[in-house]
Amino acid sequence: MNLTIAVIKGDGIGPEIMGEAQRVLDAVGARFGHTFTYNEVLAGGCAIDAVGTCLPAGTVEACKESDAVLLAAIGGWKWDTLPGDQRPEQALLGLRKELGLFSNLRPAILFEELKDACPLKPELIAGGLELMVVRELTGGIYFGDRGRRSVGEDKEGTEGRKGVVAYDIEQYSDAEVRRIAHVAFDMARKRESKLTSVDKANVLESSRLWREVMEEVAPSYPDVELSHLYIDNAAMQLVCAPQQFDVIVTNNMFGDILSDEASMITGSIGMLPSASLREDSFGMYEPVHGSAPDIAGKDLANPMAMILSVAMMLRYTFSLEEEATAIEAATKTVLEKGYRTGDLYQRDTGQTLVGTAEIGCLIAQEI
Ligand code: NAD
Repeated sequence: MNLTIAVIKGDGIGPEIMGEAQRVLDAVGARFGHTFTYNEVLAGGCAIDAVGTCLPAGTVEACKESDAVLLAAIGGWKWDTLPGDQRPEQALLGLRKELGLFSNLRPAILFEELKDACPLKPELIAGGLELMVVRELTGGIYFGDRGRRSVGEDKEGTEGRKGVVAYDIEQYSDAEVRRIAHVAFDMARKRESKLTSVDKANVLESSRLWREVMEEVAPSYPDVELSHLYIDNAAMQLVCAPQQFDVIVTNNMFGDILSDEASMITGSIGMLPSASLREDSFGMYEPVHGSAPDIAGKDLANPMAMILSVAMMLRYTFSLEEEATAIEAATKTVLEKGYRTGDLYQRDTGQTLVGTAEIGCLIAQEI
């Protein structure tokens, strides 16, 4: 295949980890006979420095014209004093919106070789852990109306503040719920056919609609077992019985929180990839972690989350399952051989401490 990929290196460790991801992708191209053409574009702090805006129009256009987007990380201390609406991270929200990326897939996989990094008791994770959070990404409270309005008069005991009400509207249409439901059911079907929908239907009307639509979609997937959990219970179950889960589907805010909780039980932020997809399987792929300005430019970053994001791109946008599996297997082999970047390295255990570039080379060689 000949494929064009928009590459956003971004800030901090972004250029270093993207370099290794491209090295690994080139190795996949050489082994399986594909040509990957990289269309490098700016977004984030580096774009603010170069052209005065975090998401130049040319970047959005280049992404739309490409077959998929790889994004490393955005943001850093240098731009922390800018007003909220001008910060580099706004580029992420802009890209999701402009590219119509409504579903966010976040796998939480505990690698056998890294199980000591998991904060849960060994008996809770015996036999491994591999679950997938499907989060709705362009609706709900993060995109609803928000604001403040004054109420009442100045009163004693209000510290000089007039009475004020702040509001954020949680809102979902049945169509928005239905399309994320189909993504989640399809995903469950490719895995263990077990889907848990998480909501707060005992309190929220939007959650009651969410649950109704999930039930309406379910008969189209008779092979998938659908269950429902309230978000508070789901948050508890994730740390006391995580192995009951295969695919979890939930709204934008619950998904934000639950996927971070799920990723922490794998114990290693440098290992976790993610995919944000459109209806036609076009997607943007990025690690879950940020730009790690504290270790940028020092060859210390773990590029595995970025490299595993490349595997997700091959699987979900290009349907290249064998190629995706080759990357995952190579990553596992390098871990089995005891190579670790600083975030995972443990002294006196026979492990070999390596830098960003070396671990990228090792994975590429395995492929
Ligand atoms: P972070 O994820 O960048 O870093 C948190 C900690 O984890 C740091 O100690 C860092 O050194 C470490 N770390 C992260 N990735 C690592 C890797 N691949 N290898 C080794 N260690 C790694 O989170 P933060 O410090 O809260 O944020 C830094 C900047 O990144 C901020 O500007 C934030 O807004 C931005 N951010 C961007 C994204 C994104 O681009 N998607 C996501 C989260 C945060």
